[in-house]
Amino acid sequence: MEIINDVNQMQQRCLAARQQGQRIAFVPTMGYLHAGHRSLLEEGRKRGDLLVLSIFVNPTQFGQGEDLDSYPRDLTRDSALAEAAGVDLLFAPEAQQMYPRGYATYVDVEGLTDTLCGRSRPGHFRGVTTVVTKLFTIVQPHLALFGCKDFQQLAVIRRMTVDLNLPVEIIGMPIVREADGLAMSSRNVYLSPQERSQALALVAALRLAGKLARGGESSAATIIKAVSERIVSEPDAQIDYIHICQKDTLEDQPVVGRDSVLLLAVKFGNTRLIDNTYLFEEV
Ligand code: AMP
Repeated sequence: MEIINDVNQMQQRCLAARQQGQRIAFVPTMGYLHAGHRSLLEEGRKRGDLLVLSIFVNPTQFGQGEDLDSYPRDLTRDSALAEAAGVDLLFAPEAQQMYPRGYATYVDVEGLTDTLCGRSRPGHFRGVTTVVTKLFTIVQPHLALFGCKDFQQLAVIRRMTVDLNLPVEIIGMPIVREADGLAMSSRNVYLSPQERSQALALVAALRLAGKLARGGESSAATIIKAVSERIVSEPDAQIDYIHICQKDTLEDQPVVGRDSVLLLAVKFGNTRLIDNTYLFEEV
């Protein structure tokens, strides 16, 4: 596995691979890899000739007072995991190279970013779409893999890719969970043992919602109320949002249907967790 830190070197390397006819599969991450990232890499390995992983804790997607400085980082451990997952090229740039002095260009997807995490984290998606556009320009991938764990992010990136005619196939991959159901996240390391066990309320609430919907309950308000009650039964849980949305537009759906997704964000102490499910699929 080659590790490249330099932006220009990475772009030259990827352009050369493309010219040789290699199909480039790309997995962008912020590192501190877990089995969720690994599932994206495994699928990328199957679909591409050259598997590229980026690890970059992107400062522009963090708001004031968020966890940019404390975000977990371990490039040595990540490199070993990446190599074991069959990564060919690991790109780990410095923030100063991605955003040098004078940097002034941003990509903004309207509408889809006004709701859910976009409302709670102003500017977050602008940072995400900007860095993903930059990474696509550097890596020149044929396909890029993203997790449905970040459901809104995936919808925003699909929108951006269509709107900007980016020649990249976007592939969404299922949420990978711990054995007890907690969605894997690099941020799970922040949870105290008590918070970690209370956080199981999220998957329990998603399962409850699915059971209600599949049992014939069609009112989103009723399902959201039940989900909310389950979550606030945990002493440290603070709900940021619970919504039932149409899967592509992310508009609220008062009456649930086959295309309904329940999305939630809940804080346990200082740690904000997100999770989601299609109501008619089992978690
Ligand atoms: P992150 O490093 O958290 O920015 O995530 C990088 C990519 O991995 C994103 O496309 C995420 O959606 C995806 N991802 C993170 N956690 C999971 C998970 N538990 N299951 C599947 N994909 C995930």
